[in-house]
Amino acid sequence: MAWLAGYPREKIDWSPTIDAEKCVKCAMCMNCGRNVFAWTKNGAEVVRPNNCVVGCSTCANLCLGEAITFPDLHKVREIYRKNGIWSKVKRQLKAEGKLTLSKISMVGIVLALTLFSVAGSVGMAANTYADQSKTSVRATKGVVLVTNNLDVDFSAFKVTFIEIGADRCIPCKKMQPIMKEIAAEFAEDVQVVFYDVWKDPEPGRKYGIQLIPTQVFVDADGNEVYRHVGFFPKEELVAVLVKQGAKK
Ligand code: SF4
Ligand code: SF4
Repeated sequence: MAWLAGYPREKIDWSPTIDAEKCVKCAMCMNCGRNVFAWTKNGAEVVRPNNCVVGCSTCANLCLGEAITFPDLHKVREIYRKNGIWSKVKRQLKAEGKLTLSKISMVGIVLALTLFSVAGSVGMAANTYADQSKTSVRATKGVVLVTNNLDVDFSAFKVTFIEIGADRCIPCKKMQPIMKEIAAEFAEDVQVVFYDVWKDPEPGRKYGIQLIPTQVFVDADGNEVYRHVGFFPKEELVAVLVKQGAKK
């Protein structure tokens, strides 16, 4: 796999550990698409640790019992540094024709964020969603726009924070008060849009999400500037908005 550029996966100590005493058997970790966990009468168990994507910690963010932990990320970074994995990954992608010179620096950023973020799957993307038309919708300042209209007008706000989830999904519910607070506190600069993909899956397809909740941040020109998967603590979310120039 390109992420490791031939370095043996089993030599990298990166997989989840479950504290059985904290596990509340919510089964959120069973959403991992890599089959790392199996469900037993005692709840979730880690059965394929090496299937875990190095650097991913999404299940820990989703875990309602806060029962999942991961090894020290610095040690993983050190392995990458010592073994020159980074440059090998770029060489491999280039050899496979998946990377042109002009894209290298951007892909480097995406890889870095994906592998080294402790806050779930995060990355910058070159996606553009500016498809405004006469039927486009826009949030009222200070209020979350709940819609299934895919044609959002991004132009009046520095950042549009799109929450893609479901109002009955438990970690998504934890995002609801945060969305309202962000809409009220950043009324001038930030538009907050909520899509419920259990009611209408189209927004999930448009934004290419794999798990809920996912937060997508889009600038005034309709370009995606940031993405996060899982519950997003308010202070970390605010840091993303501030970095994009949003003010309270
Ligand atoms: S960290 Fe990601 S890949 Fe690893 S077990 Fe959790 S959800 Fe699956
Ligand atoms: S997500 Fe956490 S609390 Fe829920 S079943 Fe898995 S380990 Fe247990």
